Amino acid sequence: VNPAREAALCALVPIDDGETHDPWAPVAFARAHADRHGGTVVAIVVGRHPDDDAGREALACGAHSVWLASHGDVGTAVATDALLVAFERAIVQPGVVAGLPGRGLFLLPAGAVGEELAARLAARFDGVPLGRCLRIEPEAGAMRIERLAYGGRIRATLATTARPLFGAVRRPPPMDMGGSVAPEAGPSVVRRLQVDLAPPPAGFVRHAQVTQRSVPLAGARVIVSGGRGMGGEAGFALLRELADCLGGVVGGSLPTVDAGWMPVTHQIGQSGKYVTPQIYLGVGVSGTPQHMAGIGPDVRIVAINKDAQADIFRIAEIGLVADWRVALPALIARLRSR
Ligand SMILES: Cc1cc2nc3c(=O)[nH]c(=O)nc-3n(C[C@H](O)[C@H](O)[C@H](O)COP(=O)(O)OP(=O)(O)OC[C@H]3O[C@@H](n4cnc5c(N)ncnc54)[C@H](O)[C@@H]3O)c2cc1C
Repeated sequence: VNPAREAALCALVPIDDGETHDPWAPVAFARAHADRHGGTVVAIVVGRHPDDDAGREALACGAHSVWLASHGDVGTAVATDALLVAFERAIVQPGVVAGLPGRGLFLLPAGAVGEELAARLAARFDGVPLGRCLRIEPEAGAMRIERLAYGGRIRATLATTARPLFGAVRRPPPMDMGGSVAPEAGPSVVRRLQVDLAPPPAGFVRHAQVTQRSVPLAGARVIVSGGRGMGGEAGFALLRELADCLGGVVGGSLPTVDAGWMPVTHQIGQSGKYVTPQIYLGVGVSGTPQHMAGIGPDVRIVAINKDAQADIFRIAEIGLVADWRVALPALIARLRSR
């Protein structure tokens, strides 16, 4: 990658969305990056009616040039849709961001709005969504990105030569700012941009009824969790009966969510929910680290699995080697007879 390709860093600043904590963070982050590695920072500020103060703020945070644009409340039903339309159209206006969008680094503020916009803009421009980034540094011809993953449980480092990149960032600590002095405000530095705000055609995706019958996993005293070994809906119907007998809630492993037997809200594990019931009863669950990562350390684990070698038996306090087709009806009948 030719370093000159990074010459323009673009900070996308959504203001007035009522949610973003520090909309100016991407400007400061881009400026710190430019001070270390070269390049100029273009800020595109989009809000209802961004005024001169917004331009001054962008310069004070380190932008070399600023564009102010109004989204005019396009598609007000969803605020991020209005911002998306305005940013998307501002970026491609001739002369706004030299050489972009094809090969740039676009930064948005960390937070729900900025992260959604970063992902959706990446999709629109066939770019790479980076999620919430801690560091972004050029290294050996690639861009090296550090970010948290799996709900902050691990720190991942990615390297990519693809462009354009869209990441969400927080303001860097003052020591990373390099004492740069923002350029003076002037008529050529802060400009107003008219973007075509005709709303994009509406698309009908799908209407689906949410049929969530089960109570949330959070706070459950007993969780009955089904795995791939349950084989389908019929198995989960039995698990629900068992959970009713025990005053518990049914959860599942990732494959059961993928198969559509469980809603994703009830997936337990590394990429699902972290649960801390008193008792976890796993049926047809093998006990992979990714699943068990979602179960608190003080939980008493009970397992039913037809394979005596299943990993879950290594951590279960009580284990029953059995086919659930035999074990569950017997267990339910016993509990009901009490
Ligand atoms: C990045 C990443 C994140 C992941 N996150 C998660 C996560 O959040 N949660 C999660 O669960 N997984 C997650 N996984 C997937 C994980 O690696 C496993 O694939 C998954 O946990 C296996 O689920 P399972 O135990 O239901 O299925 P399997 O591993 O297929 O186990 C099925 C078990 O059922 C038993 N069985 C079969 N038939 C019967 C029967 N009739 N009676 C009794 N027992 C029977 C079998 O002996 C077997 O032990 C993740 C994977 C990756 C790579």
